Amino acid sequence: MTEIQRKMFSEMADQSVYDRALSFGKVYLDEVLQRNVFPTDEAIQNLVFFDEELNESHSDSHQLINDLQHYGAPATSAIMGGRYFGFVNGSAVPVATAAKVLSTFWDQNSAMDAISPLASKLESVVEKWLLSVFRLPPQVVAGFVSGSSMANFCGLAAGRCHLLQNQNWDVNKRGLFNAPLLRIVTGREAHSTVLKSIGLLGLGHDHIEYVDTDSQGRIRADLLPPLDNRTMVILQAGNVNSGSFDAFEPVCTQAREAVAWVHIDGAFGLWAAAVKNLAHLTKGIELAHSWAVDAHKTLNTPYDSGIVLCANKEALTNALHMSGAYLMVSKERDGMFYTPEMSRRARIIELWAALKYLGKHGVDEMVGEMHVRARQFAQELSGIEGFRVLNDVVFNQVVVSCNSDTLTNKVIEHIQRERVCWVGGSTWRGKKVIRISVCSWATTARDVSSSVASFQSSLQKAQAEL
Ligand SMILES: *Cc1c(COP(=O)(O)O)cnc(C)c1O
Repeated sequence: MTEIQRKMFSEMADQSVYDRALSFGKVYLDEVLQRNVFPTDEAIQNLVFFDEELNESHSDSHQLINDLQHYGAPATSAIMGGRYFGFVNGSAVPVATAAKVLSTFWDQNSAMDAISPLASKLESVVEKWLLSVFRLPPQVVAGFVSGSSMANFCGLAAGRCHLLQNQNWDVNKRGLFNAPLLRIVTGREAHSTVLKSIGLLGLGHDHIEYVDTDSQGRIRADLLPPLDNRTMVILQAGNVNSGSFDAFEPVCTQAREAVAWVHIDGAFGLWAAAVKNLAHLTKGIELAHSWAVDAHKTLNTPYDSGIVLCANKEALTNALHMSGAYLMVSKERDGMFYTPEMSRRARIIELWAALKYLGKHGVDEMVGEMHVRARQFAQELSGIEGFRVLNDVVFNQVVVSCNSDTLTNKVIEHIQRERVCWVGGSTWRGKKVIRISVCSWATTARDVSSSVASFQSSLQKAQAEL
């Protein structure tokens, strides 16, 4: 036995290093709802601690965990809390974090049923649950990936494979050189990860036929070009700025008549389908062929967790095709046939835990409340001279501007410096804007009010500087 082996056996038997990590984690949870949402300047400066050459000899495990706590924890953003409104970042349902902690000890690889029967079972179960939550047809299959970037990639890969197959072109075998041209139709406000996937899939940004969007960022269905059986139409459930939803029913109907493929990027917005009051937003999504959705955003599972859904199992599994003499294909679900990766951590465990804990009613309550808090944000900000809400707050996103781009930028800087909450900036319809995303189960009416107060004091500071 080597010295390092002896050391590791003793860590495992003694267990105190795990206890230490767990107790630090609990201290973090005690503070995360109150603490500064973004790290202090000092905490960020202290990160130089990590700038060192890799040590030659072993480290002490307890010292290592201490250092991680001492220098690492203060330099985190309080995404777990209720006042992080940046990008579209979800918190974590407590029991989902607990399930993740437990499954960390199991260290499962969800590639195959032959490796982890548990992961295979939970993936099969959750796949069915998701179809019922989103009200999708029974033949839809799911792949459990890292996020919607990868889910968009998978959905578009399935579409590419299917449309080319219809042209008698096996893209896995023959590649894209000399392949029949495919067309891509999407709105001008398609998410950057959709464009990235189009690039990665070799389809080329120059082949995108952009359709103009309306004042809320929705694709103008009346301006769609004629579609055909070589076209991929990419729609959006939840515009990343305004939170708006495309008109799925008319576009999907048109696409189906033309035998085109429709993919919906529903990273955070697809969850509106699970809320009674908001379900009208996702009307017609069941007519699409593939969907991307995140669990780590609106559903508040721990990072990272995204899902690709596809109504054509053959297209998805062909697109992500792999083979090898050593693979063991089982009667049960082998997760790797639905994702680009072979080895994957069993993120399904946290997803299962979040859904099981919340139930349909809990998802409705939790996501519905995000909408209510977003509306509160919009209403309180509209009451303050100097802020203007630019979007219809149909879901969880609020887009706000001040009287000039310069002022908006300065206000964002001050809000970020106050650290009561965290919001980012964006450019929307040619204007600099503050983008608010309410995406945490932990956001309360008080969180919104105290954040609005920080907006107001930041506006005063910014105005004084001009
Ligand atoms: C966040 C987001 C993505 C990318 O998802 P990741 O989980 O960050 O990979 C794609 N589309 C939309 C609309 C998003 O909001």
